[in-house]
Amino acid sequence: GELYGLNRWGQGFFEVLDNGEVALKNPMAPDAPAVSLPGIIRDLEKRGIQTPMVLRVTSYLEHAIQQINHGFRDAIERSGYRGTYRGVFPIKVNQQAQVVDRIVDFGRSHDFGLEAGSKPELVIALAHKLARDALIVCNGVKDAEFVGLAIQSCKLGFNTVIVLESVMEVDTVIETSRALGIEPMLGVRVKLTNQIGGNWAASSGDRSTFGMNTAQLVEVIDKLRDAGLLHCLMLQHSHLGSQVPDVNDVRRSVGEACRYFSEMKAEGAPLTHLDLGGGLGFDYTGEKKASANSINYSIEEYCANIVETVGYAMDEAGIEHPTLVTESGRAVVASSSMLIFNVLEATLFDASEAPDAEPGDHHLVSDLIAVGGYLSGDRLRECLNDASFYRNEMRALFRRGQIGIRQMARTEKIYRHLMARIKALAAADERGADIEDELHKLADIYHCNFSLFQSLPDVWAIDQLHPLMPLQMLDQAPTRRAVLSDITCDSDGKIDKFILSEGTSPSLPVHDLPEDRPYHMGVFFVGAYQETLGDLHNLFGDTNVVTIDLRTDGGFDLLHEQEGDTIAEVLSYVEYDPSDCVAAFRKLVDGAISAGTISVEERLPLMQAYRDSINGYTYYE
Ligand code: PLP
Repeated sequence: GELYGLNRWGQGFFEVLDNGEVALKNPMAPDAPAVSLPGIIRDLEKRGIQTPMVLRVTSYLEHAIQQINHGFRDAIERSGYRGTYRGVFPIKVNQQAQVVDRIVDFGRSHDFGLEAGSKPELVIALAHKLARDALIVCNGVKDAEFVGLAIQSCKLGFNTVIVLESVMEVDTVIETSRALGIEPMLGVRVKLTNQIGGNWAASSGDRSTFGMNTAQLVEVIDKLRDAGLLHCLMLQHSHLGSQVPDVNDVRRSVGEACRYFSEMKAEGAPLTHLDLGGGLGFDYTGEKKASANSINYSIEEYCANIVETVGYAMDEAGIEHPTLVTESGRAVVASSSMLIFNVLEATLFDASEAPDAEPGDHHLVSDLIAVGGYLSGDRLRECLNDASFYRNEMRALFRRGQIGIRQMARTEKIYRHLMARIKALAAADERGADIEDELHKLADIYHCNFSLFQSLPDVWAIDQLHPLMPLQMLDQAPTRRAVLSDITCDSDGKIDKFILSEGTSPSLPVHDLPEDRPYHMGVFFVGAYQETLGDLHNLFGDTNVVTIDLRTDGGFDLLHEQEGDTIAEVLSYVEYDPSDCVAAFRKLVDGAISAGTISVEERLPLMQAYRDSINGYTYYE
């Protein structure tokens, strides 16, 4: 486990058992025995649930919700802040019913609410029984229908706040509220000028496409005052962008938000809630530093900084301490899901044996074989250079038709055997470090049963890093280095950047694939954004999704299973009617019978094969 940096990024959620298997620790019951992850997979397979699968562990979700709520509660108590915290979960970060339902359940005792960024997300929010004081914060572009539903929901006891995103939206709200005869709960989205770092820097600063500048805010206040609705403006919202790497950016931006808050109060807006949006980052690499995949602060520090900054600023302005709201999504759900897939086969870039020299060998083949004679620790790079040169010369001859496929195959085998010897020597000799870059290029390709585009879209789109490691055999030293390739027919469908204890690496230490049992990989912390951002490239659909709870006796409870898409389902997403496909195929089969190309008896197995496929999983079974 240490090799993969588990101690650094694992947050105490994982450990390696004596039998070499990764096991899950329950953060809600730290003394409970860890549950073997391959054991869970074996159990699920017996129940007919196969990999690839997303495994959701509710214990991690419960833990994250507790951490953030306790973080604010403790910081408020410690600093004597005279206000409360009312967090909301932004539904966009993981809209799946099994996730949102549980967040609502775990959050009820903390008055935890929901954030909706669109009409469908508001519809989801309103299908939940929230705590009496919990908020529903509506962000995003809103039409009259959205606004009307939000306003009317207050009649049912929901605290649904419409956050005005633009001056145009104010008119919609005024008109809809008048037409319904109900006063809205209003918020306003402020565009902060302070720019943050990281992948989502564009969500902040002057050029951000969200929120209103000072001139627009003044216009909104005037419009609301004229319409007699200024007294409804209770919340100020701002959002810095996701995964803020540096906690000092949080402090600076919160300070700026407080200035707007006190100025708008002075303008007569009765603001009571300060909503600081999302941005609380997640330390994917465990480096604890301000970078794209890591953060230089803890949840506790984030909470303390916000509480302290707001407290000071409000005291200075002589304003009552507002209720604090944050919209943390990533930090709430990232840890709760992992992707598990099996390795299907390996393309090795070395060979354990080489053919012997033969009398008719081309002289370049003899030269290549001769490299093996002077291979030693101090001539590693020279041998690599020579072997590549002779192999490439042979390839050039092959392309020109001067040697045949058998000579070429012998050349490749001899070359690969040399590479195996070079790799072994480099691993055993400290001078091997000199050719590390070259060795990464010789990494094997492990072909894995998943789609990067469907299951890890941010790895493809923005080079997001997730911890990834084999789930078994960790009692044995890895024997190979590999890059992982998915089963789409797209050369982008690969993972070639891994978090290891010494930093990131272009290849992953792996074991020789066992012949008698599967070799599973786990990709951790994929609960935020990945599930819905994934796409249907090559028509690989949703994977199976299993929700479990870790018991305190070392076992687990299966709470829910969502079967992955069948081929029929993904066909329907791209405008095919599966029954039309069956009918069309049947017609072709009958045509072939009429033409005499197949026999009548062949019809049944052909139709059966087609039907089995259409009803099956989109992944390798
Ligand atoms: N609130 C708003 C308005 C957002 O746009 C986002 C996402 O970027 C979030 C909250 C969630 O942010 P995070 O996942 O960083 O907590």
